[in-house]
Amino acid sequence: MRPSFQPRLINDPFSDPGLFIPFLFEKRALMFDLGDLKPLSSRDILKVSHVFVTHTHMDHFVGFDTLIRVFLGREKQVHLYGPPGFFSHVEGKLAGYTWNLVHEYPTNFDLNVTEVHEKRTLSATYLCRDRFRPQKAPAETPFTGVLLKEPSFTVEGLLLDHRIPCLALSLVENFYVNIIKEGLKKLRLPVGPWINRFKKALHEKKDLKSDFYVTWEGGGVTIKEKRFVLGDLADNIARISPGKKITYITDILGSTENFEKAAKIAEKSDHLFIEASFLNVDKDIAGRKYHLTAKEAGKLAKKAGVKNFTLFHYSPRYTKREEELKKEALAAFQGG
Ligand SMILES: [Zn+2]
Ligand SMILES: [Zn+2]
Repeated sequence: MRPSFQPRLINDPFSDPGLFIPFLFEKRALMFDLGDLKPLSSRDILKVSHVFVTHTHMDHFVGFDTLIRVFLGREKQVHLYGPPGFFSHVEGKLAGYTWNLVHEYPTNFDLNVTEVHEKRTLSATYLCRDRFRPQKAPAETPFTGVLLKEPSFTVEGLLLDHRIPCLALSLVENFYVNIIKEGLKKLRLPVGPWINRFKKALHEKKDLKSDFYVTWEGGGVTIKEKRFVLGDLADNIARISPGKKITYITDILGSTENFEKAAKIAEKSDHLFIEASFLNVDKDIAGRKYHLTAKEAGKLAKKAGVKNFTLFHYSPRYTKREEELKKEALAAFQGG
């Protein structure tokens, strides 16, 4: 069974961190961290609706320019989330360019920026047309761990210690609607955008007795439609299963406090993406730089009870020694 989200690291584990999370059957994606985006096509970048930046060290934020460059002149809104001080970093980036021609664009491109604090979030909008000047004072909302809530998923965030606050992130799917191909075949239904509408109807808990229209599309227009009762259609073409949880943790000190907090946000994740910057023999350096060792990454994955994990953010000092990092983390994950 394929999950609705198919996360992949943007770069190899020795290069800039970043997780690209495209949605299955939808032209949409989320992104955790904004390192070098070169491996992504403009088409992929244009799918991104929400970007969650753990912190603004250069390797996690240098892709900001690429993101803006691709979206400029498009009718789009991108939401950006980051730790305390995020407004000034975004504004600093934007101040680096001249925007004297943007009011000529026939389209609106807006940046909606949210700064995440321990107990509150602050949000502000920057309109391209208005030279990305912040609109009004930021709006304040109490923060209890949920950064984004949609009918089918939630993104949770938690500030950890990297000598600066650094966001740990979890994407939690509510439940998963698996489409049964044989069911589609039997009813002679096409694969198309209606499938997302169908899943959305289930996630939004629409009345199962209500009507649902399956549509045939060609060249962007509906050429045929057929009426179903939502519940009947679901019985024939869908299987409901528990949603997946994906967690992304990077750039944190291996302290007891971080461990407790990180294990909580990562608890029972189906997949944990976790930094393993150093080998345990270099634990001192890891501590000084507020990073995890591979051993700590494995221990944390075990403590959180995750199903799978992927390591990234290796220090270049271990070039060609990737296996040692993996082995060390795995031993800690499986160890007593
Ligand atoms: Zn980093
Ligand atoms: Zn960092």
